[in-house]
Amino acid sequence: MSTINWERYEVLTQTPGAPGFEQEMRKVMRSYISEVTQEIVQDRLGGIFGVKRGTGQGPNILLAGHMDEVAFMVTRITAEGFLKFQTLGGWWSQVMLAQRVDVITRAGKRIPGVIGSIPPHLLSDERRNKAIEVSQMFIDIGATSEEEVKEWGIRLGDAIVPHCPFVEMEGGKRLMSKAWDNRFGCGLALEVLESLVDTDHPNTVYAGATVQEEVGLRGAGVAAEMIRPDVFFAVDSGPAGDTPGVSEGFGKIGAGVVIRIYDRSMITSPGMRDFMLDTAESEQIPYQFFVSQGGTDAGRVHQTGIGIPSAAIGICARYIHSHAAIVDKEDIEAAKAFALALIKRLDQSTFESILDR
Ligand SMILES: [Zn+2]
Repeated sequence: MSTINWERYEVLTQTPGAPGFEQEMRKVMRSYISEVTQEIVQDRLGGIFGVKRGTGQGPNILLAGHMDEVAFMVTRITAEGFLKFQTLGGWWSQVMLAQRVDVITRAGKRIPGVIGSIPPHLLSDERRNKAIEVSQMFIDIGATSEEEVKEWGIRLGDAIVPHCPFVEMEGGKRLMSKAWDNRFGCGLALEVLESLVDTDHPNTVYAGATVQEEVGLRGAGVAAEMIRPDVFFAVDSGPAGDTPGVSEGFGKIGAGVVIRIYDRSMITSPGMRDFMLDTAESEQIPYQFFVSQGGTDAGRVHQTGIGIPSAAIGICARYIHSHAAIVDKEDIEAAKAFALALIKRLDQSTFESILDR
């Protein structure tokens, strides 16, 4: 039987949280964390973490997802009432046209819109075969003028998030939604905190989520400066490479927890890699190695202070950095079992053996 709170993943994925605009997500995280622990810390960029103190003198562990999702920002309102926008995080122009979005006003209201596209009837042959630049795109919220847009409470600098509902796919194994990158990690941090309530662990665990990962790992550094952990686990979702047209991709959904051995932001140390490998093998947790040209918060945290041994673990998800990403439930189960097993084993002598190798 599943031990995962799947309904909560619906809340987490559907809450808006553009990079730098994580306030609503943080409120959601705070309310879930406070059900488990009264000890909560928050850094001044907005990262939030619950604390569980274990029985031993073991290391301080930070385990974190990130609250932000790839999104947009309103940069100009045209006289006709269309919105021009800036991307926040990594987007590919081809996945954007004709997609629904929600503009988030300063009052927190969600105003629906669509990234406008040109109907085929109006496309010249030359135009049809050319990709449209993001700078040419606009959002239609159904307004008739700039004044009307302002009356509706929209201002320059407001955040815009993708719109895609949370659905369980036919067969019940897989879930589709916006923002699996990285509400998966936020949910997993909550799962870990809850499980530690009745589990002995030889260390102190800070579990929660950072901010502004998608615009360059900006929130992770300040969180690490505040907590000064001995070990860091970034819990994140990487791009699955198991679909038609991707050759030699890493990451297959349904094939287990992802252990990153290399990405553009960090080389996993041999000590950390072996610790993870031994744990997955002896606990019989399905795992897959992962190599990515992206990065995770571990890329920032391992370089802070005097150096913090770090790892990036998690799942892979199809179609991340687009509206509709797909994950496999069994991968999330495996990631939870893996994170808990790593924490239970991480006492002072294991920590020292990770450093030694
Ligand atoms: Zn991402």
